[in-house]
Amino acid sequence: MQQTESKPPFYRINLVIFVAFPLAALILVPWRGLTEGYTGMQWMWAGIFLYLNGLAITGGYHRLWAHKAYQAHPWLRVWLAAWGAGALQNSILVWASDHRRHHRHVDDNDKDPYSAGRGVWFSHMGWMLRDYPTNQEDFSNAQDLQRDPVVMWQHRNYVALTTVMNLGLPLLLGLALGDVIGTFLLVGLLRLVVNHHVTFLINSLAHVWGTRPYTESNSARDNPVLAFLTYGEGYHNYHHIFQNDYRNGIRWYHWDPTKWMIALCARLGLASELVRIPDFRIQRAILDTQFERARRSLTEQQPGHPLLDKLEKEYQLFTDSINRWKALQSERYERRVHALEDAFGERRAALQQRWEQAALRTQLRELEFSLKMQRKRLALLMQQVSCPETA
Ligand SMILES: [Zn+2]
Ligand SMILES: [Zn+2]
Repeated sequence: MQQTESKPPFYRINLVIFVAFPLAALILVPWRGLTEGYTGMQWMWAGIFLYLNGLAITGGYHRLWAHKAYQAHPWLRVWLAAWGAGALQNSILVWASDHRRHHRHVDDNDKDPYSAGRGVWFSHMGWMLRDYPTNQEDFSNAQDLQRDPVVMWQHRNYVALTTVMNLGLPLLLGLALGDVIGTFLLVGLLRLVVNHHVTFLINSLAHVWGTRPYTESNSARDNPVLAFLTYGEGYHNYHHIFQNDYRNGIRWYHWDPTKWMIALCARLGLASELVRIPDFRIQRAILDTQFERARRSLTEQQPGHPLLDKLEKEYQLFTDSINRWKALQSERYERRVHALEDAFGERRAALQQRWEQAALRTQLRELEFSLKMQRKRLALLMQQVSCPETA
């Protein structure tokens, strides 16, 4: 690629938002704290606003609009669009279109708008400061969003909405709490800057710091510390391989308030069609990555290592399980089609079908179990490799 001499020009408005605002927060927030102090109520409201903005970005902009991980009731969509505008990270349409490009071209420095390959600073916020060619708006990947009336309403009224959410609401709250300046500094300014930087961590640190249990084909990492800071988005390695799952932290104990919010909305009838990747596919991704890693380290350490044979046998078993699973899945699918065709059929047929479904489920569970066992065997095998001297 041809190297350009000079860098593209700055976006002036973004310099104000991403440089002047944090500087103002760094100076004014402690100054007001030392001279006048803040009340517990003001801190609490700053926390509430922080979470409402954050969850609107992760649960709305990201999982609902960019990835279609679930369907949301119009009321929920309007709520998420309004609080998302309050996060001051551009409109849903621009954000989701950029983000889809990030997934499609992840780590490609010429196409991924916030490619981790261009450094932590660039992927964190440098990409937003200048008019880089990778920032060219192109909504050809977001035609579905252009048909969404809530998305387009927010896009057209973005400036007004973000002003109301960032200026209007904190000022009103300040009037109610009896301290307009202090409330504005905490709930308006500090909350905005903190929310910016925790969200940006997902593009920067979540692509360099953490583990890669599901795939090594890109730089995205799983990191529970980042998950805690980013409303659950820190399980980014999982997210990059299964991007339309409504969860990022898939275990019940994984800190993912975004998935809890979506699940709660589903209970309240505000969300539906939540996408969950079947456990078998997840296990398969983990094992695939482990096989890849084991094979690499064995061949690097000692080509012709006797354990390589064992590994290949395990791999054969793994492939067999995958093939059986695929066969079961297509059998399941055919049954479903058949059942639909037979919609006016006998009750007896329905009962028969239920019995068959149950049998299929048992087989699936057995297959999942066999993968889990295989993961254990693989771990034991790799222990022998990592300490060959003691073998
Ligand atoms: Zn990413
Ligand atoms: Zn994503």
